Amino acid sequence: MAPEVSRSLEFTFTCTLPSGLHARPASHLADLANKFASDSALTNLRNGLLANAKSVLAIISADVRQGDECRVRVSGADDEVVYTTLRQFIEKDLPSLDETPAEFLTNGHGRALPRSLRQVEARCHFGVGVSRGIAQGKVVLLGNSVLPDSFAPDVNQPFDLPHEQEKIEKAIAAVRARIEALLLRQPVSTEAAILKAHLAIAGDISLKNKMTGIIADGRSAGQAIVEAGKFFIEMLRRSESLYIRERAIDMQEVCSQLLEEIYGAQFQPSSVLLQGPSIVVAETLGPQQLLALGRTCLKALVLESAGLTSHVVILARSLGIPALVGVKDASLVLTSGEEVIVDATRGVVLRQPTPQVERFYERELAMQLRRRDALSRYALRPAVTSDGQALEIGANVSSSAEVVSAFEKGADGIGLFRTEMLFVERASLPSEQEQFEAYSQSVRAASGRPVIIRTIDIGGDKPVPHLGLAQEANPFLGYRGVRIYAEHEELIHTQFRAILRASAFGPVRMMVPMISSLEEVLWIKAHLAQVQEELKSQSIAFDSAMQIGIMIEVPSVAFILDQLCQELDFFSIGTNDLAQYFLAVDRDNPKVTRLSDVRHPGFIRLLKHIVEQVHKHGKWIGMCGEIASDIRHLPLLLALGLDEISVTASEIPTLKERVSRLSGKNCKELLLRVLICRETAGVEKLLEREPTVQSTPPLLDRELVIFDSESANKEEAVRELANALYVAGRTADPDGMEEAIWAREAVYSTGVGHGFAVPHCKTDAVMAGSLGIMKLKKPVAWDSPDGEPVQMVILLAFRESEANTRHMQVFSQLARKLMNEEFREGLSRLADAGSVLAYLAEQLNLSG
Ligand code: PEP
Ligand code: MG
Repeated sequence: MAPEVSRSLEFTFTCTLPSGLHARPASHLADLANKFASDSALTNLRNGLLANAKSVLAIISADVRQGDECRVRVSGADDEVVYTTLRQFIEKDLPSLDETPAEFLTNGHGRALPRSLRQVEARCHFGVGVSRGIAQGKVVLLGNSVLPDSFAPDVNQPFDLPHEQEKIEKAIAAVRARIEALLLRQPVSTEAAILKAHLAIAGDISLKNKMTGIIADGRSAGQAIVEAGKFFIEMLRRSESLYIRERAIDMQEVCSQLLEEIYGAQFQPSSVLLQGPSIVVAETLGPQQLLALGRTCLKALVLESAGLTSHVVILARSLGIPALVGVKDASLVLTSGEEVIVDATRGVVLRQPTPQVERFYERELAMQLRRRDALSRYALRPAVTSDGQALEIGANVSSSAEVVSAFEKGADGIGLFRTEMLFVERASLPSEQEQFEAYSQSVRAASGRPVIIRTIDIGGDKPVPHLGLAQEANPFLGYRGVRIYAEHEELIHTQFRAILRASAFGPVRMMVPMISSLEEVLWIKAHLAQVQEELKSQSIAFDSAMQIGIMIEVPSVAFILDQLCQELDFFSIGTNDLAQYFLAVDRDNPKVTRLSDVRHPGFIRLLKHIVEQVHKHGKWIGMCGEIASDIRHLPLLLALGLDEISVTASEIPTLKERVSRLSGKNCKELLLRVLICRETAGVEKLLEREPTVQSTPPLLDRELVIFDSESANKEEAVRELANALYVAGRTADPDGMEEAIWAREAVYSTGVGHGFAVPHCKTDAVMAGSLGIMKLKKPVAWDSPDGEPVQMVILLAFRESEANTRHMQVFSQLARKLMNEEFREGLSRLADAGSVLAYLAEQLNLSG
């Protein structure tokens, strides 16, 4: 009899994802395959590796790289529908599911240490700074969540197959429950994403099958976890993709937890209790190990082999823990208990710091505190330009936990609460009560400041699997945002109720995404009115005057604003979507990203039209797209006359400071020039010359006068002056500025004799021409022509690209004055910053 041939359907595709089939796209594919009964298998035709398409791990392990040809084979009862669904997904959606790695700081090997640190000769170990900051503490060496090499069989117990299988089942359930409980505590979004990845690994079908197979061969649950774990870790490590190799640590961590669940804490090597300021050093670390260390004593992380996209690094950044990776043999070279300084901004660990090194960093930390102080002054007050134009700066958030930290960073309000994050990556929809709690907590935290809650914006690129939305050929042009509301009335009804109930606790504004017509607005208003009636009849409190607004992200609404203004209270421009629809550029297609430049002259004209129309009808308009967070665009956004911008919370203090330095009038002049630009490159160039729109700050500034400086030598004095400019917001790069000063100093010493020195530099590391003045407590050697030590230093710092001769004018005038004894004595005699500034302004003819 001929063997029965089971039917299978198959197709091939070429992977176009730049990072290959890594965790995120693989998890989407596995999610989809798991929805059906049929078996689906993926074969990488380059290396012949076969993967169960229902398992994220198996897909990742097939090592699919960009350009690899793959075959998908489907067999089973519902094979036809699976074939069509997977094929459509792989051809249409998969290419847009790549993950842009977060932007990382890659200082370290790239740039030398500043001269003031170089000259104190420290014992340095270099790495790559991946989370900025400086910290000092004692080394705590930590083992990894490495699996034991083998797991000895328990000879005292007879082997009981069902019992061992049950242990695995229970351990998986317990680990998943533990992670789910952590997720319920509303962690910040980065932490949540990492926990979700661990949840997926713990529930992975391939991992489970492998473990069950090993037990079926007669080995214990412990042996099965170790062997299966090692099998997948090896597979991940063999990948060509760095991103996938870095997932091995996540696998290790989950397997360690399974072991711990069955055999107790001996398999949890991270359970150390930190005491006192600690620098944790490890070969690598799992994210949950990092979380277990707590925040009180952990000052910095030094890792040998964590990659830039590893979860522990992503987490350290989001928790603000300085971190250095790629420090060769760190856990061998550094000894437990030794004192080190970690400078993750410059990418270096300094061992057994000498008093001079400690002094350098004490001064750096003091400077950073002053800078933070200076910024916090701006954070807590409204952003107003030097000529009086105000701009509200709100924050974009996705959870109530983020709301609290946004206000700490100085948000004037919440300009965009993306509620869809409450709906994605979960098995069921959030209840009215759950939503109400998230919204009302946020409104309470806002203490009277406005909170713009955006109604759910799913579909398109933000799938919510349990809503059963179909895959689409053009998801961005498809069934998303407000367009799904009519079919999901109950869901919207629940969300309206939750938002309205939260409005009883403070000013809530409700905003609707993806509006393209007046009809949609009228539909929303009618439904909202129904819900209001319902709440009234139930005597449930809400704000009947709650404002209603829409996102402007579909170009059609830009031309019916007169009509929309009659129906709505406010608008917010969503440039992420507006740009892709207006410029006809899919924001996830790398082939055309280049064309999606918000500096396209046509796009800027569109923005101007929108703001003018809304203001003409007396309504409020903000902007919550990503371009608002980019400081380079700030002059344009101010010139457009927006009432508000809503941005990434961490950018708020810096943006507020910059607003205060800009002149609204100069920004408007810049906009006029931008509007007649013929090309994007021209707009770009105009924006790069952003200092021209600053209200040119005076050369002399009280913040740049240092009295009784403790600087003990020339290097320290130069550094202190560079730092003063940094604190005053006149340079973002004090190291670069210091180098520029030393470059001049290398040609000739700037000591001019009689106890005076005039160091100077011309560099674009400086944002505005500045004159720094320092009176030293004790004179320092400066190679002056008369051999006298220097007591008074006057620093001249100018911009390289400022094409004027001011630098030479001020410098020569100052040099002439310094030759005059009367001037020197007059200056030396003054005992306070105000008098010094007044004296120099008068003598050098400077108007301020
Ligand atoms: C936008 O489109 O600019 C926007 C803020 O919305 P999202 O990025 O959530 O689509
Ligand atoms: Mg949008």
